[in-house]
Amino acid sequence: MTDSAPLDVDLALLGGGGAASLLLAALDRHGVRDLRIAVVDPVRRRGQDRTWAFWGHPGTDLDPLLSASWQQVEVATTARRRVLDLTPLRYAMLRSGPVYDRAAAAERRLDATRIVAPAETVTDDGTRVRVRTGDGQTVRAAWVLDSRPRPPARAGRTTWLQHFRGWWLEADRPVFDPARAVLMDFRTPQPRRGVSFGYVLPVSDRYALVEYTEFSPDLLTDAGYDAALAGYRDLLGLDPAGLRVREVENGVIPMTDAPFPARPSPRVVRFGTAGGATRPSTGFTFSAMYRQADQVARALAAGRAPVPEPAYPRRHLWMDAVALRALDRGGVGGPDFFDRLFDRNPAERVLRFLDGVTTPAEEVAIMNSTRLLPMIAASAGDAAQRVRDRLRPTRPAPAVPPAVVGDPLGAEPGAGGATRRT
Ligand SMILES: Cc1cc2nc3c(=O)[nH]c(=O)nc-3n(C[C@H](O)[C@H](O)[C@H](O)COP(=O)(O)OP(=O)(O)OC[C@H]3O[C@@H](n4cnc5c(N)ncnc54)[C@H](O)[C@@H]3O)c2cc1C
Repeated sequence: MTDSAPLDVDLALLGGGGAASLLLAALDRHGVRDLRIAVVDPVRRRGQDRTWAFWGHPGTDLDPLLSASWQQVEVATTARRRVLDLTPLRYAMLRSGPVYDRAAAAERRLDATRIVAPAETVTDDGTRVRVRTGDGQTVRAAWVLDSRPRPPARAGRTTWLQHFRGWWLEADRPVFDPARAVLMDFRTPQPRRGVSFGYVLPVSDRYALVEYTEFSPDLLTDAGYDAALAGYRDLLGLDPAGLRVREVENGVIPMTDAPFPARPSPRVVRFGTAGGATRPSTGFTFSAMYRQADQVARALAAGRAPVPEPAYPRRHLWMDAVALRALDRGGVGGPDFFDRLFDRNPAERVLRFLDGVTTPAEEVAIMNSTRLLPMIAASAGDAAQRVRDRLRPTRPAPAVPPAVVGDPLGAEPGAGGATRRT
């Protein structure tokens, strides 16, 4: 292919990460053939670069790929530890390696063209989209599905981050309960502005991912994450002498009410985090990405345009904006907010709400379980700020900062996948 000979395709995927990997597998699963596909990404994703935790019904195509799943999860605060039975749902852990491998196999079966270069300019004339790539190629596509990371269209009223570090811990004797995951453990010291919690995802009685997570405006330092995780390990009563850190996982996910336009032009569809699949109040993304991948594949298999439904209903985005505001301005405390949600609703309802698939009646029940006065104050503040935003020039959104990654050879041995004792 040269500058004078563009590659003509039906579908160009810009970005080949989580969302695109689920989409490639869904296209293959739905028997989409005879579609000319290009995948443009400067990086070929493979191996373990993230662990997805999500809930849903068992019995999907993901089941054979799971590292573990749990019918019971624990939500803990300083006041109590609650064990939730998720039936008919289950909480599950999926490591990225099998997801990328399955996508690579699907890509081969779909006979897709892989371009290992960044997509640079995207020009949509309403009938075709021209994509210029960093290595000088041009792709001409009937449709573009764009999951390249990007900041939202403008700054949100609240801009938080979900940021975390996890250790894959191997113990020299049985210390974990593989029958039960810890979903959220709010016994961690709470930041001045924000919410923190730990969680535990055991794959056996000796091996588990133990993470420290914050929902807050700013990242910690490398030493700050290590100290917080060590503190959580101690809170769990785990003896560091009998543990080895096998891998370290770091991440930053946007949590904001800023808009992520899913259809920037007629033939460009954004999906994944770039298209608004990240739930503003929790950072959870996987279920929406999976749902949208399935919708796009079904549409293409039926000869329709590859446009998924919005990741979340508008009323959920409003409720998230209010909740984020109440948490940020100190109207409600994070542990109290989540504790009340799980205390006053069946676990299944809360989890389906967080996935954006509850009915309005269920949402009223969810709203009624929060502290009403601070939520009403936050709703009023949100409404007032929406009006002010309309009157002043649009503020650009800050980019999501990269995760803080410890130096594997430096003061914090073990980061980046090396082995160490805690
Ligand atoms: C460590 C980590 C753990 C997470 N765990 C969970 C979880 O447990 N549950 C959950 O629900 N969510 C989780 N998330 C959030 C979310 O599910 C993931 O970020 C998910 O990978 C998002 O998929 P995506 O395709 O939108 O973005 P990505 O997977 O980041 O893919 C974006 C792709 O775009 C490519 N790209 C960048 N620039 C260009 C360019 N110019 N041209 C072409 N391609 C480009 C990148 O190389 C990348 O491959 C996690 C995120 C991280 C970082």
